[in-house]
Order: sequence, then structure tokens, then C-alpha cells
Amino acid sequence: MKCSIKDCSGDCQIREITHTVRHHGQVVVIDHVPADVCSVCGDVVLSPETVRHIEQLLRTADRPAREVPLYEYA
Ligand SMILES: [Zn+2]
Repeated sequence: MKCSIKDCSGDCQIREITHTVRHHGQVVVIDHVPADVCSVCGDVVLSPETVRHIEQLLRTADRPAREVPLYEYA
């Protein structure tokens, strides 16, 4: 798949990424999310099915598989 970023000539390939979302004001990290990642600019595109799956996961999962350290940049 061609990259959707204007003037980028890269191709997107399916990779597993670590996706971060804000859910009810909390930072939630989801590991091993399949996404189209551009090999040139690194643009990440999630398919509608993947987005739906993540929304469902956030609604139904009660305990995270693991907890990760979270640091503030400032
Ligand atoms: Zn690109």
C-alpha cells in the first residue's frame, strides 16, 4: 500500500506496533497492534477493524496484562 502522506514515496507495510491511547483521561498502552507503517516517513495507519478491536478491548478488558512505567517529559 502506498503511503497516504503527501509527497511521500514510501510504501506501507504491516508491522506490529505499540499503540498508545488516552482512555477516560488515562494513558493506555496496547502492545502488538497490527498497523500499516510507512518505511520512509513512519506514518502509522490503523485499519477500521483494528480501531474497532481496540475500542472493544478498552470497553471489556478489566485488568491490563502488564503495567508499564510512565514518565513525564517535563
Ligand atoms: Zn510515508
